[in-house]
Amino acid sequence: MTSSEDLRSRLHAIDHRGYPAYKDLKGQYDFGDYILSIDHVQGDPFAAPSRLSVHVNGRKAGFPAEYYDTYEKRITLQDHLTRLFGTQLARGSKKASGSGKSGLLAASRCGQEVLERTACRIGTGRKTGSSGAADTAAGSVILRFEAGFPARGRTIDSRELEKMLFDILPGCVLNSLYYRKINQSKLKSAIELCEDQQYIRQALPGLGLCAFIADGSVLPRESGISDRPMEGAVPFRSPDSLKVTLELPNRGPVSGMGIPKGITLFVGGGYHGKSTVLQALQNAVYNHIAGDGRELVIADESAWKLRSEDGRSISGVDISPFIRQLPGRKDTSHFSTEDASGSTSQAANLMESIESGSSLILIDEDTSATNFMIRDRLMQQVVSPEEEPIIPFIERVRSLYEDFGISSIIVAGSSGSYFHVADHIIQMKEYVPYDITEKAKKAAADFPVFSAAQGRFPEYSKKRCPRPYAALKKDDRLKLKALGTSELSLNHDIVELRYLEQLRDSEQTMGLAYLLKYMELSLMDGKRSMPELADLVKAQLDEKGLESLFPSQDVRSSLARPRRQEILACVNRYRKLNL
Ligand code: ADP
Ligand code: MG
Repeated sequence: MTSSEDLRSRLHAIDHRGYPAYKDLKGQYDFGDYILSIDHVQGDPFAAPSRLSVHVNGRKAGFPAEYYDTYEKRITLQDHLTRLFGTQLARGSKKASGSGKSGLLAASRCGQEVLERTACRIGTGRKTGSSGAADTAAGSVILRFEAGFPARGRTIDSRELEKMLFDILPGCVLNSLYYRKINQSKLKSAIELCEDQQYIRQALPGLGLCAFIADGSVLPRESGISDRPMEGAVPFRSPDSLKVTLELPNRGPVSGMGIPKGITLFVGGGYHGKSTVLQALQNAVYNHIAGDGRELVIADESAWKLRSEDGRSISGVDISPFIRQLPGRKDTSHFSTEDASGSTSQAANLMESIESGSSLILIDEDTSATNFMIRDRLMQQVVSPEEEPIIPFIERVRSLYEDFGISSIIVAGSSGSYFHVADHIIQMKEYVPYDITEKAKKAAADFPVFSAAQGRFPEYSKKRCPRPYAALKKDDRLKLKALGTSELSLNHDIVELRYLEQLRDSEQTMGLAYLLKYMELSLMDGKRSMPELADLVKAQLDEKGLESLFPSQDVRSSLARPRRQEILACVNRYRKLNL
């Protein structure tokens, strides 16, 4: 191993030379307390910054083994260290004068969710793969980040890089990656919160619930563009009839609203907080950090926000349970289009979410196609069923639950028809929920039921086994790009993701881009079904992490793990999907 002093003299030797001389720095350097690895050096000052990582061995890092002995706790510890390191780096790094990204030091920026990221990896010491090699020694820490190697014009300014690597970085590492140096009680609370969150998530099915919102939770966000909690918000309060008290391992008894499996309706006047509750639930598939306000809002992790998405592409989906026949006798049992309508997109979204294994569907009337949701009696009389290809969701929502065990939570402020099919009806009044099931059911009894029969969920074709898109070559130079959470591109083909509301982090988008490429090049074979593909990805990521998508020296620091639902949703929106 090269010593850090060797690195220092190499830096001195290349000062004022042409930028490519930086390339020789690639390698690992012993800084005593940690190893600094220069994994990839940028080609010029304007290119994507260089990739570095810090490696601390388990004994020196010293984190208690019980902080990473389950997947969830390990992810929480990794998240915590990434945040600490990021804060340190932001404090220490000053943008050096110089060209391009000179002097930049950047770690992964975490939002309100706790996600698995390539930015940090705590070794489990577990043996993985056929080689029998441990993924990394137990308790060891790898922290990946980016640095803009400084230049004046295209001339190396290695004095500046020396400052970054020798003056700024060591303090950042020391103050964030060593248990003895950090605020231990904050870390302890983060781990304990994770245990409580996991406890709730695992308890839900046994209690017959699909979601839980703790009393006192703060659901609304600061603004439409900020995910931080609103100040002075009305705290959540469960109606008595739905109140459950859970005995959490760390916090002890916590009460809140348990949303039972089945069909639950949220109604109420405009602006009374219906959509806010639904948004909290759709994000409750993730754990949130302490202080978020939603840290004890927990939903079934397969929950799927079902919405309309006109313009999306659809490849070979059987939407016949909802749309029988389209003008021109277009077949709907193997439906493909480059430009779906509101109702066909929502039908495809639902059939795909059944395929992905979701057991909870979340719907907001604000983002639904009306004709997908409902058809009123007057319309039924005037336009005969034979002329109307759409069987609205209201006719299928019960069989979805009875036949497949898929629950629905629906926000419907403008139509009372769903009163007939709902198990529970909750009214939001000035941001406070009230159980009005009895009252609403009684009122509904006086209104004629819509004519539709509530039979079994119809048969539909289940197996979709994509073949790889032949034009994609096994080539590492395939171009991948991510644009926030709204789109990605694979070799210039854009995949639109902006309506995947549960995709929360731009690093997840990057994760999707790499996974789409990986599935196309290595997994799709025309025989494996979509769920089988998702299972294979899950097994690999569980065992070896997102890192396994890269050769070992080439791991990007900016990927977060998306859910199974978003992985399949991304594949489904790839316009070159070969089905
Ligand atoms: P609805 O869907 O019923 O029309 P929204 O959920 O969109 O209503 O909420 C309307 C507004 O009220 C939003 O600006 C939201 O941020 C705010 N809001 C929601 N819940 C609360 C709360 N508990 N306390 C304070 N403001 C809230
Ligand atoms: Mg709304």
